[in-house]
Amino acid sequence: MKYIPTIGLEIHAELKTRTKMFCACRNDPDEKRPNLNICPVCMAHPGALPVINREAVKKVLLVGAALQGTLADYTEFDRKNYFYPDIPKGYQISQYKHPLVSGGELLGVRLTRVHLEEDTARSQHPSTSSGQAPISLIDFNRAGVPLMELVTEPVIESAEQAGAFARELQLLLRYLNASEANMEKGEMRVEANVSVSARSNLAETGEAGPLGTKVEVKNLNSFRSVERAVAFEVQRQSELLERGEEVVQETRGWDEQKQVTFSQRKKESSHDYRYFPDPDLPSLLLSEIPEFSKEVLAKELPELPWQKRDRYLKLGFKLEDAEFFVNEPQFVKTLLDGVIEKTQSDLDILRLASNYILSDLRGYSTDLNMPGSIENINPETFVMLMQMIKTSNVSSRGAKEILAEMYKSGGNPETIAKEKDLLQQSDEGALKTIAQKIIDANPKVVADYRAGKQAALQFLIGQGMKESKGSANPEALREEMLKKLR
Ligand code: ADP
Ligand code: MG
Ligand code: ZN
Repeated sequence: MKYIPTIGLEIHAELKTRTKMFCACRNDPDEKRPNLNICPVCMAHPGALPVINREAVKKVLLVGAALQGTLADYTEFDRKNYFYPDIPKGYQISQYKHPLVSGGELLGVRLTRVHLEEDTARSQHPSTSSGQAPISLIDFNRAGVPLMELVTEPVIESAEQAGAFARELQLLLRYLNASEANMEKGEMRVEANVSVSARSNLAETGEAGPLGTKVEVKNLNSFRSVERAVAFEVQRQSELLERGEEVVQETRGWDEQKQVTFSQRKKESSHDYRYFPDPDLPSLLLSEIPEFSKEVLAKELPELPWQKRDRYLKLGFKLEDAEFFVNEPQFVKTLLDGVIEKTQSDLDILRLASNYILSDLRGYSTDLNMPGSIENINPETFVMLMQMIKTSNVSSRGAKEILAEMYKSGGNPETIAKEKDLLQQSDEGALKTIAQKIIDANPKVVADYRAGKQAALQFLIGQGMKESKGSANPEALREEMLKKLR
C-alpha cells in the first residue's frame, strides 16, 4: 500500500451506576416507558442543582487504574455549550482541562485521556401517515446518564487493530463492572478518526512525516462496522490522494446498508463550544479522598482480561481456547479456575477439563433443548469425573453421558456412573480371570505375540473386552494381559 493509515479512536461507554450522573434518578438502560426516570435536574429546569455521582467517578478511576493511566489529583467539570433538542440545558456537562485520567495504554495503544460526562436524551422520529406533519419525540430517561469517554492517540495502524482495541476495551469494562458496553444497545459507541499519509515520507527520511487530514466517522454500532468503516475510509482517502485531490476534514456517518461512509458535516473545533468550568459543581481534590487513592483502587482491580489470557497461555492453552475463556467468564468463574486451583501440577486433568468445557459444556450452554446449567457442576465433581476418564474408569462415551447428567441435575459422577452402569471393570480378580481365559483360548495368537508380533496383543485385549461385554477398563485389562503373557 502506498498510503499509511493512521487511526485514533474516541469511545463512549454508559456507566453502570445506580443513579444518573448529577441527580438521584435511576440509571436504567432497560426502562422502555419514556420519560419515567426524570427530575428537574436532568430535565434542565431553571435553578435545579447538579450533584456529582461518586460511583461514576470511581468507575472511571478504576478504568484508569487498570489502564495504567495517571489519575488526576485535581479535577473539575466543564460546560460544553451547544444547542440540540436532546440536550435540554443548552450545554453538556463534561471535562475539558482536567480529565480524570491522562495517558495509559491498552493493547499497546497509547491513550490520551479518559473523562466523565453525561449522556444526552434520546430522540425518536416515528413515521406519520401521509398528509400529517412529521413529528419528533424525546425520551429523557437517558439524559444525564454517566458517560465515560476514552480517547486514544493517533497511533492505530489498521482496521483490524482498531477492532481489536474496541473489543478489548469492552471486555475490560465488563470485567470492571463499569459498563455492560453492548454496542447494539448503544451502551458503547465508537468514533473512528482516520487519515492516510504518503508512504514516501517514511522511505525518504526514515521517519514518519506529518499525519494526513483526518475524517471522523460516527454511527458505528458494531465491531464489524468499526473495521469496515475504517477500511472504507482508508481506501477512499487513498484514492483521493492518488487522483491528486485533497481530503476534507469532516464528520462522516456509516451507512450500514450500503457499507459506505457519507458526509454529515464539516467539523466544529473545540473553541466553538466555549468550554468553561461549571459554577454549579465543586472541583474535586481527588488525592484527598481516601477511597479514590491509587492504592485502594489497585486493590479493587480484579484479574484483567490480558492478565487472564497470559495466565492461560502460560498453562499451555491454545490462543483460541484462552481467548474463548477470557470472553466467557461464566465458564471460568464457576469451573475452569476452580479446576486449575485443584490440579496445579496435573496438566493431563487440566487439558481434559478444558476440552470437555470447550466441546460438551459449551455446546450444552447454547442448546435451548438442553435443560440444566453449568452451575450444577462444581470444580470438585468435575475434577472427579476427569480423574475417572484419565484412569479409564469410564469410557469417553460414558463420560459424556455422566457429564450431561451432571449438567442437568448436578450430582456426583461416581454415583451417576454406578446408577447408569457406566463404570468400567477394574477389579483385579475379575480381569485376571478374563485374561487367563483369553490366553487359554488363543494359543496360536499367544505364540505370535511371543515371537514379537505386537498386533497380537491388541487382538487379545480386544477379545478380553468382548468377553467383558465392553465393561472392562481397557488400561487395566492390558496390564493384566501383559502380566500373564510375561
Ligand atoms: P478534535 O479536537 O478534532 O476532537 P483531537 O486532536 O482531540 O481532535 O483528536 C481526536 C481524535 O482524533 C483522537 O482520537 C486522535 O487520536 C485522533 N486524531 C487526531 N489527529 C489524527 C490524524 N491525523 N489521523 C487520525 N486520527 C487522528
Ligand atoms: Mg472529538
Ligand atoms: Zn434526574
